[in-house]
Amino acid sequence: MEEKYYEILSKLEEADAIVIGASNGLSISEGIHIFADNADFQENFGDFREKYGIRSIIQGCFYSFPSQEEKWAFFSRMYSYFLYQKKEVSPVMKNLYELIKDKNYFVLTSNIDDHFRQAGFPKDRLFEIEGNCSNLQCRSGCHDSIYRGDDVLSEMAQSQEDGKVPASLIPKCPECGGPMQVHLEVDHNFLRGESWQTSYQAYQDFINKAHGKKIVLLELGVGARNQLIKAPFMKITSFEEKATYITFNRGSELYIPEAIADKSIGIDGNIAEVLQQLAKMK
Ligand SMILES: [Zn+2]
Repeated sequence: MEEKYYEILSKLEEADAIVIGASNGLSISEGIHIFADNADFQENFGDFREKYGIRSIIQGCFYSFPSQEEKWAFFSRMYSYFLYQKKEVSPVMKNLYELIKDKNYFVLTSNIDDHFRQAGFPKDRLFEIEGNCSNLQCRSGCHDSIYRGDDVLSEMAQSQEDGKVPASLIPKCPECGGPMQVHLEVDHNFLRGESWQTSYQAYQDFINKAHGKKIVLLELGVGARNQLIKAPFMKITSFEEKATYITFNRGSELYIPEAIADKSIGIDGNIAEVLQQLAKMK
């Protein structure tokens, strides 16, 4: 096992470009499970669970709340849960950042918890495919801008009562005056305008510039059937001669196709522990 870790560290050290792909398994290793009706969910979202029958954070994201006051009670609670309840950057994200901060890297993630930004990853190296919990957009998409919602979201999180936020705090679109929503891919309103396109393009440019060079695809907690991150990573690995595909996952979710096996390193284990070990050995 130790040999594998040294191999990973030397691949990261030698890499001209590192693309990090992260999905739900990374959040789980930080103790956040958006699909689970676990004790943490019941403790932090128990009132929503009781009132609407919502059984997980993700169900809440897709739930059709009866009013704006109730909708924002949920989304501001979620924001606060992801970014304030935990207060500090998790050891998982700290270790990951320490491992790659001095390298040429880019992050592709479907996680919505905004933890990459929180850990210090700059916005121009980050493509959050499905948005994140801190950004706001016009619900009807009258214009393309995405706004940081930290102030209004934390204020709403602190001043909710009986599952509602005060109407005076509810954000309004600065252009059309209509309702806003969190920039998350939970419905067809999700904006893929200029801001999203800029990040998408930055990712494409990063991959194109790395062509022919030593590129490392570092995949963290991405499910075996994932099409958004895993499929493109495997494609790049197969056609880039000097590519290395590194994947951390648990049990049956750890999947390396035969065709790229000789360019791949897989670690079956708890991502939190794997990153801790790598950071220690670096
Ligand atoms: Zn608008």
